[in-house]
Parts: sequence; C-alpha cells; structure tokens
Amino acid sequence: MDSTMKAVVKSRPEFGAELQEVPVPDPAPGQVLVKIQQTSICGSDYHIYKWNKWAENNVEIPQIMGHEMAGEVVALGCGVSSVSAGDFVSAETHIPCGHCYQCKTGLQHICVNMKILGVHTDGVFADYAVIEEVDVWKNDPAIPAKFASIQEPLGNAIDTIRAGEVAAKNILITGAGPAGLLSIPVAKAFGAANIIVSEPNDYRRELAEEVGADFVVNPLEDDLEAIVEEVTDGTGVDFVAEMSGVEAAINQGLRQITPGGTIALLGVPDDPVRLNLTDDLIFKGINMIGVTGREMFQTWYIARRLLKEKKIDIAPIITHEFPLEDFAKGMELMQSGNCGKIVLNP
Ligand code: NAD
Ligand code: ZN
Repeated sequence: MDSTMKAVVKSRPEFGAELQEVPVPDPAPGQVLVKIQQTSICGSDYHIYKWNKWAENNVEIPQIMGHEMAGEVVALGCGVSSVSAGDFVSAETHIPCGHCYQCKTGLQHICVNMKILGVHTDGVFADYAVIEEVDVWKNDPAIPAKFASIQEPLGNAIDTIRAGEVAAKNILITGAGPAGLLSIPVAKAFGAANIIVSEPNDYRRELAEEVGADFVVNPLEDDLEAIVEEVTDGTGVDFVAEMSGVEAAINQGLRQITPGGTIALLGVPDDPVRLNLTDDLIFKGINMIGVTGREMFQTWYIARRLLKEKKIDIAPIITHEFPLEDFAKGMELMQSGNCGKIVLNP
C-alpha cells in the first residue's frame, strides 16, 4: 500500500488551503482506513477554507479538510469487528463519546462530547482517511457511487423534513442551498402537498424548480406572504424548513406558518437573532425544533431506502465534479452560490 497520499490541508490561519503530500494514516484500535473514492464539499468546509470566526474557534491546524465521503475499506484497526476490508462505505460525521447521558439514551447525534470528522479530526479530502468504526455506514451496492457521499447532507434534509410530518401538508422551505435543494425531493417523497421555496439566488431558484418545488419565490423581490396565502387558501403553511440561517428568512418563515404549525431550523445563523416570540411564536402556538446533524442512524436508513427505491432523484443537485486537486475551483463556486453539491474525486 502507498505510504504517502495527497490531501487538502488547512495549514494556515487565513483564507485558503493547500494540496500536500502527507503520510497515509494508520487506523488506531476501533478505526478503519478507507480509500476515498468520492468526497463532496459542505458549507462548513467552505467556512474552514475561508477561516471564519467559527473555524477559528473550532479547528486546530494543520488539519486535513472534508467530511462527506464514499470509499472502500482497505485496513482495519485492532478490535474492529463489524466492518471488513472491501466494504463500500460512507461515514456519519458526528463522532459520539458513547458514554454521556445523550449517548446512553439514544441521542448520540447530540453527544455532549461530540467530535466532528474534518472539524476536530483529520478529514476526507485525501486519498485515504481514518473513520471510527461507530461511524462507518455500509452502502447498499444498488446506490450509485455518485450519490453515496451526498447521503450525509441528505440526512440533514431528511431529519429536518421528518420533523414536519409533511404528508399532505403545505410547506415552505427557506433557502435553496444544497440543504434546501435536497429537502425538496425528500418532502415530495414524504408526500407534501405544496412545496414553496424561497431563495434569492436565481441559479438556485431554477434548480429548486427542476427538482420539484411547486412554487419558487425570490424573497427580496416577490411578495412571499401573498403567494403563501394564495397557495394555501389563506391558511398559511403547516410547516417551515428553515435552511438559510438568515435572520430575515427565519422571521419571514415564522410569519407564514398557520397557528399550531411547526418550524424546524437547520440553518445556522452567524450571530444571535431577533425574533418576535410574542406574536410569531407564543400566541400562534408554534412548535420550534432545532435540527443538528442527522439522527444516528435512522436518517441513514431512510436515505438508503429513498435512493435504493429511486423515490428521490438527487442527480440534478450535483452540479459540479472536479478532481481533488481542483478543490479551489469548488471553493470559488461555493462562494458565488451558483452551485448545488460539488463533488471532488481523489
Ligand atoms: P447555503 O449557505 O449554501 O444555503 C443557504 C441559502 O439561503 C443560500 O442559497 C442563500 O442564498 C439563501 N438565503 C439567503 N437569504 C435568504 C432569505 N432571506 N430567504 C431565503 N433564503 C435565503 O447553506 P447549505 O449548505 O444549503 O446549508 C443551509 C444552512 O444549514 C446553513 O446555515 C448551514 O450552516 C446549515 N447547516 C446546518 C447543519 C446542522 O447540523 N444544523 C448541517 C448542515 C448545514
Ligand atoms: Zn456522548
């Protein structure tokens, strides 16, 4: 086996990253070594690349970037029993401690001692990566490799849409970045009645329409409230999936919900936000749900079924593919917003 590999390393506390030749890691006890076949860029990778405040507070450099992946297991650490060499796998990226209150009560995805692959540990923008056995997800061979590394962000979308129990309901998705886009086919597969999507970016609004949004709205130019009123016969939507992390969108979303409805928040605002809790939440009896990561591993099973049974088509959401060496091109596109998911192939 190779002794060195190429890897995208965040090496300096400033904008950018560099391609380096580094040693292939050894899997420690309880870990497996995976030869990476495909990775994809997440918004948080871009935040690390850009080196924003969150990255500064969470990432220790130098570190290999990336966490969304699919690949083949090539070596096992001591004591690994549930995975074999040759398995085609992806990775859950939340690394739970296994012994805190949350881990012990079926809530490993919100473990209080949580580490995240590619944030607190070396990641997967490389030829090889080490994955914890607990995080290894064996892919169904019927699922095209092209979609396998997208299952992790797909899990974010599934977890958020699941919170709305959307069957036969009218829903609003605020933000059509990769997370919002993936939510559209999921909501359709779950049986949502009308899916309204608000998104200021033209490229993404077009994509939203292509993957099944019933109504797309530019919240900066169109009258979202009037459109929601018309589509829902004056009732308001039953559910909002907040996928922008933008204060204005959260407030706008809250105001479109019918009393008794639900908002699930996946989008992460950079700063504390100001809400009119009295009028927009309390007196309307709104349920507000925070979503972090994906429930382990319910969302992975759902992703598997949706993809295997072709209940969703996420192909149009993968808008760009580059060799790993061209990661900077992918990051530039992330900055422009004129993209869906961007795949990198080592
Ligand atoms: P993204 O930044 O690509 O997408 C956000 C979209 O919101 C953009 O397309 C932007 O144009 C749009 N937007 C901006 N202002 C808007 C407005 N007023 N109304 C409607 N849309 C507006 O991010 P993403 O990768 O799609 O992820 C979505 C959000 O979810 C981000 O905030 C991300 O950090 C967060 N996220 C959270 C988790 C979690 O575990 N909670 C996991 C993944 C992503
Ligand atoms: Zn824990």
